Amino acid sequence: MPETLTADPAAPDLDAVLARLRTEPAPSARTVWHTLAASGTVGALYDDPAPDTRWGLDPRRLRTVLTALDTAFPLGTTLSFCVQAATALPLLRDAPPDSPAGHTAAQALAGHATLALAVTDTAAAGSDLTAMDTRIEQEGGTLVLTGGKRWIVNATTADHALVLARRRPGDHFSHFCLLLVPLTAPGVRAEPADTLWFDGAGIGSLHFDGVRLPADHLIGSPSRGLAAFARRISTERLASGLWADALTSRVLTRTHRALTRRRIAGAPQWDNAAVRQEFAAALIDQQRLRALCDTVCAPAPDGPPPAVAAALLKAAGADTLERVLTLCARLQGAEAFERGGLHQLRTEAAMFGIAGGTGHTLRDVVADHTEVLLDARRTAS
Ligand SMILES: Cc1cc2nc3c(=O)[nH]c(=O)nc-3n(C[C@H](O)[C@H](O)[C@H](O)COP(=O)(O)OP(=O)(O)OC[C@H]3O[C@@H](n4cnc5c(N)ncnc54)[C@H](O)[C@@H]3O)c2cc1C
Repeated sequence: MPETLTADPAAPDLDAVLARLRTEPAPSARTVWHTLAASGTVGALYDDPAPDTRWGLDPRRLRTVLTALDTAFPLGTTLSFCVQAATALPLLRDAPPDSPAGHTAAQALAGHATLALAVTDTAAAGSDLTAMDTRIEQEGGTLVLTGGKRWIVNATTADHALVLARRRPGDHFSHFCLLLVPLTAPGVRAEPADTLWFDGAGIGSLHFDGVRLPADHLIGSPSRGLAAFARRISTERLASGLWADALTSRVLTRTHRALTRRRIAGAPQWDNAAVRQEFAAALIDQQRLRALCDTVCAPAPDGPPPAVAAALLKAAGADTLERVLTLCARLQGAEAFERGGLHQLRTEAAMFGIAGGTGHTLRDVVADHTEVLLDARRTAS
């Protein structure tokens, strides 16, 4: 099991922070971010004295925080936190501290700013990133941003978005840059997504109509935007797998408890051999995911490249979630259809196989590295 932050002497008391948050009736994702950041919980993710350079943060602490959030809040709130802590902030922290990106990172770390990461383009399939139409043109020292992004977490609530945009035609990786865009800038419009799900995640579209930005709002080198994003999307994929472990574990625990209490034909549902067999199969899936999380979180100088380890973990997480939630919802019968019930969670959790890279994209990465993953010497070390 992931250690608790409370047991981690270098980290703030997460239980106390969450207990404080729980005194509010339904804290918004912004409030959750503000409180966790102001308490030092977010900063502690990056303050490892011996940082794991693969991820830009401490994966064990991230695991602990995601597990705690998953237990305490609806999925949309954890999603809002996850995008900021695992991708947007590590990207900003890679920029020089005296740049606008560095200042915004400091504000976000203090809980004074919230972030969105806007990559999926209005004009292209998410699996075909380099077909994007969102672009910048240079007018003297000013960058002019035009285009749109869709299905962006925190689009309607964030103060700033990190926007991936093209600076030249064509699909060469150096033709894309990453920009820091204040969402109050003239020409920016946020529109909520028309969806029944992901309450609290502020999902929506961002429209950019000739948004004028100083040249220093480029994050990092202009030709390295796609490379920087590709590097840090691995951290989001890591987070996705760790969160999937926490979520499946939580649902299996509750289902097991319910099965031992619920009686069918005079006996607890848990005593039915077929039910136990099905549950055990789901538990085996979940334990396999947990073992993979443990392996990926451990320092591994000879392990596969982080992009490969993260793709493997995210794909495993999405598949495990689908099987576990489908089974647990079925075992609950009609109750799973209640508002906020397991079928709603199952639908929302289908995003684990889409957001941050679809299943087929991840399986492509895994297939491309078959030899690396099967290398017996790595496995033995
Ligand atoms: C809840 C949620 C939150 C999100 N948050 C963000 C965010 O914060 N920022 C952001 O930038 N984006 C975000 N996204 C967008 C997400 O990254 C994209 O939806 C994702 O990249 C997939 O793009 P798409 O929806 O256009 O699907 P497509 O790329 O059109 O793919 C749809 C399906 O087509 C099939 N397919 C496509 N290509 C192939 C192929 N070559 N081979 C086989 N099958 C294929 C697959 O089954 C795939 O699942 C979010 C999405 C969701 C659902």
